[in-house]
Amino acid sequence: MSGQTANNRFWFMFHKDKILLAEDASGGLHIPCAPAAPLEAAGLTHSLSEYNGLPCQAFAVTEFPADASPKCCAGNEKALRYLPMELRNDFYDMFGEELFAIAGHGKQMLHWDRTSQFCPLCGTKTKVDTPKSKKCPACGHEMFPHLYVAILALVTKGDSTLLVKAHNVKQDVHVLVAGFLEPGESLEQCVRREVLEETNIQVRNIRYFASQSWPHLSNMMIGFFAEYESGEIRLQEDELRAAAFYRRDNMPPVPKPMSLTSRLIDWWVSGRELPIGNDGKNSHLPDPRVD
Ligand SMILES: [Zn+2]
Repeated sequence: MSGQTANNRFWFMFHKDKILLAEDASGGLHIPCAPAAPLEAAGLTHSLSEYNGLPCQAFAVTEFPADASPKCCAGNEKALRYLPMELRNDFYDMFGEELFAIAGHGKQMLHWDRTSQFCPLCGTKTKVDTPKSKKCPACGHEMFPHLYVAILALVTKGDSTLLVKAHNVKQDVHVLVAGFLEPGESLEQCVRREVLEETNIQVRNIRYFASQSWPHLSNMMIGFFAEYESGEIRLQEDELRAAAFYRRDNMPPVPKPMSLTSRLIDWWVSGRELPIGNDGKNSHLPDPRVD
């Protein structure tokens, strides 16, 4: 990520749902860097936050590019070609949390751009009003990027915690009870309802842990701790394959460290007190491995 000139920018370019990375001669992968957009944008170009003091911008391309543009850099070298990569998993593993967050922001803005082309009230083609809003020229309806808010709940019972296997999680891992916030509900009510609906368990003492923007579409994940109050586990079989309480010394496989689910579980396994005064300045996710 070095060797940029003063006018360079990082370009977060997406083809379909994958980000395009620039490959150098030795096979290294980099966020493409160049003073001007290396490819032609299909639709809006979105400004993201800076990285290493350089502006970051995101846009989508229609066609997968055969070769890298001549002026596009890959690290210190000229890029040879572009390679597509999933943001979840591979990209996070290679580039870490900060670039994952910037790329996720770009992906969410591009998704919003694609899904806000027409006014939902009258069907007229919308116009860009500000960098983060569109307006219908016929009826004046305003549209902003939307988020789907979902809770994650780590439920403790004595020295064990409630883990579930969900039909919609493809990997063979145990996860936490999760679900989308419904209109009219507080986050705490959502935690109570989701745990009860999915497992028949009543909870109390619900405490906020941390949040994470999740660019699989546009989700905002909000993590909570809660304590078991009453009830026997009874599965909501439409959503879950299994649910049980597990002790720290008997934990099944859980998701990778990138996810808020794994941070909640790590925090509980480490036996630490709940984080207080998480200011979100650097990492928005408290990490039990770092003091
Ligand atoms: Zn309209």
